[in-house]
Amino acid sequence: MKDRIHNFNAGPAALPLPVLEEIQAEFLDFKGSGMSITEVSHRSKWFDDVIENAVVRVRRVLDLDERFHVVFLQGGASMQFCMVPMNLLPDGQSADYVNTGTWATKAIKEARIQAKDVNVVASSEEQNFLCIPKDISFSPHAAYVHITSNNTIKGTQWASFPDTTGIPLISDMSSDIMSRPFDPSPFGLIYAGAQKNLGPAGATLVIIRQDMLERVPQDLPTMLKYTTFVEKNSMFNTPPCFAVYVIQLVLKWLEETVGGLEKMAALNRQKANLLYHAIDKTGFYSGAAEKDSRSLMNVTFRLPSEELERHFVQQAMDNGMGGLKGHRSVGGCRASIYNSTSLEAVKALVDFMEEFAQKHG
Ligand SMILES: *Cc1c(COP(=O)(O)O)cnc(C)c1O
Repeated sequence: MKDRIHNFNAGPAALPLPVLEEIQAEFLDFKGSGMSITEVSHRSKWFDDVIENAVVRVRRVLDLDERFHVVFLQGGASMQFCMVPMNLLPDGQSADYVNTGTWATKAIKEARIQAKDVNVVASSEEQNFLCIPKDISFSPHAAYVHITSNNTIKGTQWASFPDTTGIPLISDMSSDIMSRPFDPSPFGLIYAGAQKNLGPAGATLVIIRQDMLERVPQDLPTMLKYTTFVEKNSMFNTPPCFAVYVIQLVLKWLEETVGGLEKMAALNRQKANLLYHAIDKTGFYSGAAEKDSRSLMNVTFRLPSEELERHFVQQAMDNGMGGLKGHRSVGGCRASIYNSTSLEAVKALVDFMEEFAQKHG
């Protein structure tokens, strides 16, 4: 077998090696079924156990009380950009959005396509989205406040969530869900495409609070209503079976191997600190995001020239480290260090960065 690389991809992204090995080991005969997980019926006891386990683990890791429902949808986080306003923003009311980058901009656009009344109450666009806005005043009657907890492309993250004084908070947590503990109670809805921090592409985790379901209009298409998925436990139609199966293994790894969300968060801080320290201590690299807005998941940085950046990405690849090229819309370099990226991988990158800076600085 070819050696596996240290994978710094932004998404789809690295998965824990023990999870990949477990998938491989039980792939041809899933739990004595004589079939792989991609072949069993989603109405079978085998899959019942899988989805039940996934939901139980999500609830336990995030410490969700009985007000919250956990469902798995398809269509990616991008589908949620339209489903959120469609379901939760009644006609005649408005919603507040904070624009912190590409994904937030898309969420705003999808709400406006539906002629929904959207207030962009804060934006970091003039700062090239390199920071998280501060001291935001929300509209007192907003139906909800929408934020993007981690901005995957520019590498910024909300260090803590804003106080919306009782207005339900809605967050796109695609690139930092399960990376740190937080109080779920202010949230009306949380969504996350699985392929950054939870598992493979194909499933979107949606956590929705009971009181939000009362807003869902009766006349929406069945597949676009949150109530459909909550009432049928994600099984109105065929769910993304394989993705849910892997998510459940990733969460088992998080709980049993890593030791839970607090431990995961400490490890994530340690990885990010190592990397930001390696950037800050030289004059060769420069961090892209403002320091107080830095993401612990996507570390964005520049080198003195674009030519050196290309060289860096190529040499890193030659040394077994992949996925370091910045998003095509911004350039530069980006190391995505989600939950599954090991401390060992980050240390290898830091060593490589030191060597590269010495040679070319
Ligand atoms: C990747 C990403 C998305 C898009 O997710 P899809 O599942 O591809 O639709 C949305 N929001 C954030 C924050 C992301 O990182």
